[in-house]
Amino acid sequence: MDDGHRQLLRQLPSVDELILFFQEHPLAAELPRTILVKAIRQTLAEVRRQLLELSPDTLPERVDREWLLAQIQQQVRQSQSFRLLRVINATGVIIHTNLGRSPLAQAAMEQIAAVGAHYSNLEYNLATGTRGSRHDHLEALLQELTGAEAALVVNNNAGAVLLTLNSLAQDREVIVSRGQLVEIGGSFRMPDVMRASGAILREVGTTNKTHLFDYEQAIGPETALLLKVHTSNYRITGFTKEVSLPEMVALGKKFDLPVVEDLGSGCFLDLSRYGLDKEPTVTEALQAGADLVLFSGDKLLGGPQAGLAMGSRVLVERLKRNPLTRALRPDKLTLAGLEATLRLYRDEEQAVQAIPTLRMITRPAVEVKRRAQGLARRLRRLLPGQTKVNVIPATARVGGGALPQVELPSFALSLTDPAWPAHKLEEALRAATPPVVGRVEHQKVLLDVRTILPEDEVVLVTVLTDILKGEKHSG
Ligand SMILES: *Cc1c(COP(=O)(O)O)cnc(C)c1O
Repeated sequence: MDDGHRQLLRQLPSVDELILFFQEHPLAAELPRTILVKAIRQTLAEVRRQLLELSPDTLPERVDREWLLAQIQQQVRQSQSFRLLRVINATGVIIHTNLGRSPLAQAAMEQIAAVGAHYSNLEYNLATGTRGSRHDHLEALLQELTGAEAALVVNNNAGAVLLTLNSLAQDREVIVSRGQLVEIGGSFRMPDVMRASGAILREVGTTNKTHLFDYEQAIGPETALLLKVHTSNYRITGFTKEVSLPEMVALGKKFDLPVVEDLGSGCFLDLSRYGLDKEPTVTEALQAGADLVLFSGDKLLGGPQAGLAMGSRVLVERLKRNPLTRALRPDKLTLAGLEATLRLYRDEEQAVQAIPTLRMITRPAVEVKRRAQGLARRLRRLLPGQTKVNVIPATARVGGGALPQVELPSFALSLTDPAWPAHKLEEALRAATPPVVGRVEHQKVLLDVRTILPEDEVVLVTVLTDILKGEKHSG
């Protein structure tokens, strides 16, 4: 080390000196001492490291004390802040897998808080005072809502697929159409999950066309089941042929093979009533004769992450007996949130109002427009005149691998400010508390109002005014 570096490093206050200083500081009253000490050590180490990286001729004359104290406070703030945060989704993608899919209904949150903060009868039978099963709590409700004979809830739908194929088709063949082997985002491919179950995938047909005879010709002594995957996150259009569920069910009956449908999104309501494309509902798939129907809890259902397997009692019992069920079991918070969400479905109107995902999907565009205009008016009142706030038509999407080509008419706030290049403003919004995720189009920041929760409007206005009334962007 050269003299310049040595001198500068010697000037740095010691850990003890800084601890002493902070004893008089309001931070010390708020924080456990260990956290403060850790932040001081980390900051000093980081400052030393940065100084050592500088060449002798670029060294500052001294390390500013105020700056150092500010660095320590910044380090404390960082170490005290959560990494997993609530964010405001202004992307217009309703079931946004990167943003946590479905926000939960108030009733679900209350039930999660009640069950989570107390003991519960998770695996206790209150009537007999003996051991019970966590798998019993939701079954009757699911039967009531869908007409299914039996149901099992696991960690997520990929888990439900894994468990089903492992239980019913390990080392045997599962016949599936090549056109239905989907990748589900995060580069997870369902065929890989299916193979991990130990089942042998027997792919039939071509990408665009699979006929009933393709399935029939593939059936042999090793066939364990027929699998249909609802390709809900993309659509092959044009010259296509898919075998319908009733046709597959008839074929399964003929050869005495179970038919399983991976519905992906698993909707309970007929969304065509709200002007959307028809997604097959869980009840319809069961009525068409699927032996098992598998779907996610946090896509169109609007609940917590979960995988639901519903249908034949005999098959669900085979799933339950599989040791993998123990590895994939849902925790009490999931079950609490899911039960509360499912109860809302006993009344369709209630479900559509109280489940945020359904509410956002079914909101008429005029209502989104009214909210956007209200937000724009508030912002114009609060923001400096140079910030332009407009309401423009936009296109929202259901997302989450559901209703891929449905474009939901929506409205967005369009923001421009001469002091803020659009990408800088977008960046500042992402760094805010809470972060706001929007997008930049044609040098404007667009915030789609369809996915902004009504209860987040006030904080969104505060975030925007804090940023735009504050200092001009740095850099
Ligand atoms: C989303 C999806 C899955 C995976 O569900 P997760 O709940 O994310 O595990 C499986 N199959 C299909 C068809 C899907 O759309």
